[in-house]
Amino acid sequence: MAMLELNAVEAFYGTIQALFCMSLRCEEGQVTTLLGRNGMGKTTTVASIVGTIATRSGEIRFDGEIINAKPAYEVAQLGIGLVPEGRQIFPNLSVYENLVATAANYSGSGNPWTLQRVLEFFPRLSERLNNQGSQLSGGEQQMLAIGRALMLNPRLLILDEATEGLAPLIRQEIWRRLEQLKQSGLTILLIDKNINEFVHIADRHYIVEKGSVVWQGDSAALSGDTELKSRYLGI
Ligand code: ATP
Repeated sequence: MAMLELNAVEAFYGTIQALFCMSLRCEEGQVTTLLGRNGMGKTTTVASIVGTIATRSGEIRFDGEIINAKPAYEVAQLGIGLVPEGRQIFPNLSVYENLVATAANYSGSGNPWTLQRVLEFFPRLSERLNNQGSQLSGGEQQMLAIGRALMLNPRLLILDEATEGLAPLIRQEIWRRLEQLKQSGLTILLIDKNINEFVHIADRHYIVEKGSVVWQGDSAALSGDTELKSRYLGI
């Protein structure tokens, strides 16, 4: 059984349909990616999973349980953590406050993420503990957004454009951290444009075009298909 499964999900913004028959699976312990050009429905897919947009039809299952109709806070409590597009850290709270404000051990982990563990994982954050979110660099804000999501101790971590606008060296640091998280057993759903940089840590890929999946396959199949990448991803 997949940890997360979407079956024929449809979602709308008013009368505009954004998801058409969206289906995908995230297997436990794997890194799954959602790829596709801007406006194709990746963020809407994430919103439907985390419960911030209502689905009109189809099924979303987490550990086998249907979660479509659940409000966002219940989905978080089930163990789905989100690093949202645009980071959305609290700009007027300190790094410390950002990390502890929503912390919880939702997965009931025996070795939960704590403030100390997050600061060891992202040492730059410990140097900035009393700075406000708005005073951080883009890379530090992203580390904070990931640290905040880890403090919920999710079983599935979703990252929506986590490296957008970051310098290559900072992106490398984020990929290294995600690789460590994968090695620790965390299941990850990743949306990102820098495919060539993370393809080695990913297991399965889904390409989204106009609200549905047009291709799926493993990293070897994706890497070897230049025509596919240029057609759907523009790279
Ligand atoms: P991006 O990387 O640019 O965020 P995306 O693949 O994540 O792209 P979505 O943001 O999911 O795409 O958008 C899917 C479709 O839904 C697009 O046609 C978009 O214009 C539309 N859409 C997204 N948000 C809204 C909204 N709040 N109201 C109306 N339409 C929306």
